[in-house]
Amino acid sequence: MNDRDALIAGILAEPEADLPRLVYADWLDEHAEPKEPERAEFIRLQIETQNIQYVGRHLDDRYADPAWRVRELQLFNSPIAKSWFPEIEFSHLRCRWRDQDEDLVPELIVRRGFIQYVYGFDWWAFNRECDRCHGSGYVEFVDRIASDYECSKCNGTGELSGNLPGLLKSQPVQHFVCKDKHPEQPSFGGHSYWVSSANDTHADFPQSCVVPARIFERLKNKESDGLARYSLRTKANLDLSSAILELARAES
Ligand SMILES: [Zn+2]
Repeated sequence: MNDRDALIAGILAEPEADLPRLVYADWLDEHAEPKEPERAEFIRLQIETQNIQYVGRHLDDRYADPAWRVRELQLFNSPIAKSWFPEIEFSHLRCRWRDQDEDLVPELIVRRGFIQYVYGFDWWAFNRECDRCHGSGYVEFVDRIASDYECSKCNGTGELSGNLPGLLKSQPVQHFVCKDKHPEQPSFGGHSYWVSSANDTHADFPQSCVVPARIFERLKNKESDGLARYSLRTKANLDLSSAILELARAES
């Protein structure tokens, strides 16, 4: 394990602690080759101010009055910042500002120099079959030279990799908010439910929401009737977040 990996491992092991991050910042300033003073400054600045930055939404600097905030945005928006989070399709996520669009929700929240929240889809947690070639690795083209072509979406592997397992190797992500999985506000017995995709006979329950079986298996509140049941929706969402992160760690 090289120095950088060891320092990152220290940050991942103690996501709540500032010290491992500050030690890493010192190392970036003094020992990294090449040195990364901007990255170091960004980490220190965010720890000092406890401010956050969003990726995936318009970066609004209208309120950037204090000098530290101007500097923070400057660092975060600089081209060099792309290399700080190499697992992310940065430019793609960033340029999705459209008025009154649901995509306005942040995709990532960067706090204390690292990604803390991820807003995404449950399938980010695992590798899955490519939906273009349906796992075959080849796409059929109907033309005069009709033939199979290697699928460009999955590069002929038939599989698409989840974003989250790679991200967790270098980012101390603490929460995963599933953008497309929301059990309705409870009215039936006052509960929220998750249902496994392997057993979705309960999927018609108005307060239920189907999640992939391998995520469902990791939920805490599973009951014998094939439901995971929660009295509070916030608890349901937190447990889903833990299950998704646990699965992604297992796959990374
Ligand atoms: Zn494919």
